Amino acid sequence: MKLFAIFGDPVSHSRSPLMHNSVFKNLNYKACYTRVHLRDGSKLKETFFTLGLSGANVTVPHKEAAYTACDEVRGFAKKVGVVNTLVNENGRIIGYNTDADGFMFAIKEFGDIKNILVLGAGGTAKALCTKFIDSGIKVTVLNRSEDKLTYFKELGCECFGWEDFLLKKYDLVVNTTSAGLKDEELPAPLALIEAILENTSFVADAIYGKVTPFLKMAKEKNITCKDGADMLLGQGVLANELFVNYELKTSDIKLQMSKSFEI
Ligand code: NDP
Repeated sequence: MKLFAIFGDPVSHSRSPLMHNSVFKNLNYKACYTRVHLRDGSKLKETFFTLGLSGANVTVPHKEAAYTACDEVRGFAKKVGVVNTLVNENGRIIGYNTDADGFMFAIKEFGDIKNILVLGAGGTAKALCTKFIDSGIKVTVLNRSEDKLTYFKELGCECFGWEDFLLKKYDLVVNTTSAGLKDEELPAPLALIEAILENTSFVADAIYGKVTPFLKMAKEKNITCKDGADMLLGQGVLANELFVNYELKTSDIKLQMSKSFEI
């Protein structure tokens, strides 16, 4: 029996155990998935091996610490320095990032998106912005702390703090901050959010399982919007493929994972 887990702080809200266990149970894969509340990201590697994990997911705020914990980082994760999926390969931790592709899957229904405003400059923002720029999308980043913007400037994004923000029109605004996750805060001051929502066609929030104050405002303005559930599904399917080393069919994984959202 293989053991998998999700590391985070907070982590009690995570649907990942339900999603992955639904796949393992219904497809007769001998594995179990649990959650680990980890406060200190520097203890990630030690905890991974102490628990004898075959793999793990990593959520807020440890995705950059996860990158450091890896013995080897592959693919897109290497480019962004942010890891959300860990696989134990013969005693070595291999790191991947499935968030960005998960998000691209989630916004397919919005059609052709050319211009995105990203709220936040953490690990998720790094992964998404890099994928957007790689896909030829124009990206603007707005973050509370201006000192976190260097990566995004070098990537080619237009970057602002709250004080100097220059409003434009956007196809899509994405909240990648954790504002609203365990509090009722907005990702930027109210006046800025009001103005931003008047100037976008679509809204997406990376947070799932609750209507954040940001998403609530977007809904009240009748903007087509979605929470982070489809992103969660997308990244989860890709992570599960890595966990089972592609032994299960993608369509079966997706079906079983989707069913877990009905619980
Ligand atoms: P990080 O800790 O790396 O980054 C958090 C970001 O949020 C920073 O930019 C921080 O700004 C900003 N922030 C935090 N609190 C506030 C606040 N009160 N007001 C304004 N800005 C704030 O987190 P991650 O990037 O890993 O995750 C971000 C969110 O995305 C989480 O809520 C997570 O649950 C969600 N997520 C969802 C996924 C899904 O599958 N649906 C996948 C990945 C993430 P500052 O720089 O100023 O500190």
